[in-house]
Amino acid sequence: MDASIDTLRDAVKVTAKSLGIDLIGITDLTRLAGAPKRFHATDYLPTAKSVIVLGTHFPDGIVDNWDKTPSGYQYYGYSIPNKELGHACYKIAKLVESGGYRCFPIVPTGHSKDMDSTKQMGEFSHRHAAVAAGLGELGYNRLLITPQFGNRVRLCSIITEAPFSPDPMYDGPLLCDKCKKCIRACPGKCLDESKMLSCTVGDKTYNYVTLYHFRCFYNLLGIGPNTGGHINIPLPNKNGELGQLAFLSRYIKAYLLRFRMFQYMSRQQNAVDWYDYCGRCLHVCDRPVNRFKKDQER
Ligand code: SF4
Ligand code: SF4
Repeated sequence: MDASIDTLRDAVKVTAKSLGIDLIGITDLTRLAGAPKRFHATDYLPTAKSVIVLGTHFPDGIVDNWDKTPSGYQYYGYSIPNKELGHACYKIAKLVESGGYRCFPIVPTGHSKDMDSTKQMGEFSHRHAAVAAGLGELGYNRLLITPQFGNRVRLCSIITEAPFSPDPMYDGPLLCDKCKKCIRACPGKCLDESKMLSCTVGDKTYNYVTLYHFRCFYNLLGIGPNTGGHINIPLPNKNGELGQLAFLSRYIKAYLLRFRMFQYMSRQQNAVDWYDYCGRCLHVCDRPVNRFKKDQER
């Protein structure tokens, strides 16, 4: 590896830290070779050699006290971290390009134009890239668990043709103890343990539950009960995915039956940019334990 690429690699890390980014890792593409079609780095940048992954932690107090009001989590746990990540990715992509290597920064959260709306899936998995880049492991609930901040991070990736040397993958104690609090906390039966999935990143294999994307999306919009949105039209109680038509009919029902609340939520969302409701599967995961002085005193 020539010295200039290592100098650029160091500059990327220093810049990320100076921009307030908590976690940064780099992976080569061999660790992500098992990704499905449309999720390969080269699907976006054919000359790609590496992926830089940034992670930012959001305040634990807003998560632990989500039941007081979901607004803090929606804004400081979703909207602002995604903007901070976008800003940092923009700066770092320009830095790497100034060193002579093209970059394709992915948008932090799925944007309607780029995501697969029939499956409610984004264009690239930041979570899998983060595991490959050494930031942590995939938990039973499919989310990244980091040793420093557990699930409570947002992520973003920059695909680049710079041939950076990869960081080592996480190799510490198991981060998910399969306590299943996340499964029990889901208000929509969206995480199905009867259909386990497995994926391999580098030389590690992770097993996690199936997520029913439309059921979850319904709750992320705050339509279902106990998601923070107060529209409270339950999902069907049966197991399994919702389906696009069923989703749409319930969405229209919510619009007609709870018109005032629906309008209020839409305006509120536009006022502070788009953000998620629910997130209960993330909130209840308490890894790592005893990070705060108050918890250590108990
Ligand atoms: S709550 Fe966290 S530690 Fe427990 S099973 Fe879910 S992801 Fe694993
Ligand atoms: S965000 Fe809410 S609805 Fe979606 S899987 Fe997590 S707990 Fe369930």
